[in-house]
Amino acid sequence: MDPLPPLREVIRRHGLSASKALGQNFLFDGQLLARIARVPGDLAGQEVLEVGPGPGGLTRALLAAGARVTAIERDHRCIPALEELSAAYPGQLRLIEGDALEIDAPALFEGRPHIASNLPYNVGTALLIGWLSAGWEPWWQSLTLMFQKEVADRIVAEAKDDAYGRLAVLAQWRSAARIAMPVHRSAFTPPPKVMSAVVHIIPAAMPEGVKLATLERLTAAAFGQRRKMLRQSLKPVAGALDAAEAVGIDPTRRAETVRVAEFVAMARALDAARA
Ligand code: SAM
Repeated sequence: MDPLPPLREVIRRHGLSASKALGQNFLFDGQLLARIARVPGDLAGQEVLEVGPGPGGLTRALLAAGARVTAIERDHRCIPALEELSAAYPGQLRLIEGDALEIDAPALFEGRPHIASNLPYNVGTALLIGWLSAGWEPWWQSLTLMFQKEVADRIVAEAKDDAYGRLAVLAQWRSAARIAMPVHRSAFTPPPKVMSAVVHIIPAAMPEGVKLATLERLTAAAFGQRRKMLRQSLKPVAGALDAAEAVGIDPTRRAETVRVAEFVAMARALDAARA
């Protein structure tokens, strides 16, 4: 255990009333935070990027696990509380005040950090899409991220699940994504309206001969009209129906039935036909 005061006291002393605009829902349960910090594996000596440390609950757990943490926080009210953490863990915490959507995070690291965050819900999906769209292999080693349960379901969904769509394909075409743990809304202060879950994502090998842009064009068209047959929904993408046929995908199927590997095969065939 660290010698630091309880988080509730930190909040009170620094006047950190939760801001809805900044997506602030804080976690105080040390055991839950320690469990989240264990999801990426052994962090001793590892670099970790945390977006939105707030008063520092998850940050403490990451530091206690031995990580070297770079934390980007937009709310300047949280900085003095985080500086106390930095003093308690000398040389382990680098604080950056700013907007994670605007900061060039890869430039902050020489190696490949883990990313672990209880993300602000209003920018969480945008950050995830940016991290998943980065070049391959990605500049990060793993992602351990808190999302609203509904978004977590969309990330890990498989074909035929209601939540299956573009986000699932983007997450899974070159990563393994799983729900590491559900988190009840009552764990947060203040409690959000919805349940949450921690998602763990690790990179897989990049499929050969497929451009992300091609895959995105196909999934945008296919899921743009998800209830329509592919022969209708894929019409706007030149050559897509020939590519589907070339890899044995029946054009009377709907997007929601097409597995990630099938979208990848279709994109590869389309790129090969255009080369
Ligand atoms: N990590 C803390 C915890 O688990 O208790 C706080 C999590 S709270 C859901 C999200 C945090 O992200 C808040 O501290 C908020 O100020 C911060 N935040 C919101 N938008 C941000 C942005 N664009 N860049 C960096 N931090 C942001």
